[in-house]
Amino acid sequence: MKYATEFRDPTAARALLAAIAARADQIGATRAKPLNIMEICGGHTHSIFRYGLDKLIHEGVEFIHGPGCPVCVLPMARVDECVDIAEQPGVILCTFGDAMRVPGHRKSLMQAKAAGSDIRIVYSPLDALELARRNPLRQVVFFGLGFETTTPATALSIQQADRENLANFSVFCNHITVPEPIRALLQDPDMRLDGFIGPGHVSMVIGIHPYDFIANDFHKPIVVAGFEPTDLLQSVLMLLTQIAEGRAAVENQYARVVPEHGNPVSLAAIADVYERRPSFEWRGLGEIDHSGLRIRPRYAAFDAEEKFGIGYAAHSRNVPEIPGCACGSVMMGKLKPPQCPQFGTGCTPDMPLGALMVSSEGACAAYWHYAGVRAAPV
Ligand code: SF4
Repeated sequence: MKYATEFRDPTAARALLAAIAARADQIGATRAKPLNIMEICGGHTHSIFRYGLDKLIHEGVEFIHGPGCPVCVLPMARVDECVDIAEQPGVILCTFGDAMRVPGHRKSLMQAKAAGSDIRIVYSPLDALELARRNPLRQVVFFGLGFETTTPATALSIQQADRENLANFSVFCNHITVPEPIRALLQDPDMRLDGFIGPGHVSMVIGIHPYDFIANDFHKPIVVAGFEPTDLLQSVLMLLTQIAEGRAAVENQYARVVPEHGNPVSLAAIADVYERRPSFEWRGLGEIDHSGLRIRPRYAAFDAEEKFGIGYAAHSRNVPEIPGCACGSVMMGKLKPPQCPQFGTGCTPDMPLGALMVSSEGACAAYWHYAGVRAAPV
């Protein structure tokens, strides 16, 4: 196939839905005893709802929404620290637009900007680099967050700043990795997952082998998938085929984009610039070992934690979430967004309580915009 529209072809989608139904019946999946398929990536969650796949698919297949929205899993304390940096005199804080309305305890970045802090939305860390070049008397800080998809671009900006000796540029690093939270979910006795739809964009960078443990250690199938409706349906069919045949393997439905071994240039930049934190806090999942990245001492001059005296271990833990908000349970796939008591009442896109309602990859935003669910269930 050559054009995006071909991946939205109704005839192909109907054929895939019929094949999925046949496999689900063969396995014995029913509404009462469904196969729980977790899509890890928030982009997949939005595609599922945008195209109504949750309603079209066999009733024995249940989509469980995973923790793959990097803005959503950012603990509130890190938002607070980012606001603290933005409020320092002379600082220009640069961020992706998604993070602007994520609530902190005191305020969001949007509210900090309204109160006078110089906060700018950028489309790339290279935009922040350019701001640093043009404002040599200001400190320009890039709010680096995201999974392996965005991690390389931040690394390249740090390498470039190093080459130019751009001393007024730094990164507040909140980059995180995908495989570790999947392991944490698989080790949770409350979770019953039958397979995973693997993230397409992350895998474009890291390849498919970092997921080998899912099949080898936990005997669950995972299929790395693209973002069009037939991509997702084909991935579900591949998962159900593995389950029906009693197999658990890592398969790549998105081979037109995802190389088996990832992108060597990106992986080299990541290895050069970052090292693993001993652990990092994820909203809803708590501390997860080796799941966060920090900037190596070699690049300490460009590390905002060093420059502004923010010690992760000292400041970022155990800040309570907003009472009554179920972000953590939604993030872990234990609750669906409408089951949160705040959904559609205390929490809407205009007045969000949690990041899942504002991020373009958040599960609550997906339900709000596409699933026709606009109020809390009674
Ligand atoms: S509705 Fe709001 S408070 Fe509830 S889980 Fe979603 S983002 Fe969190």
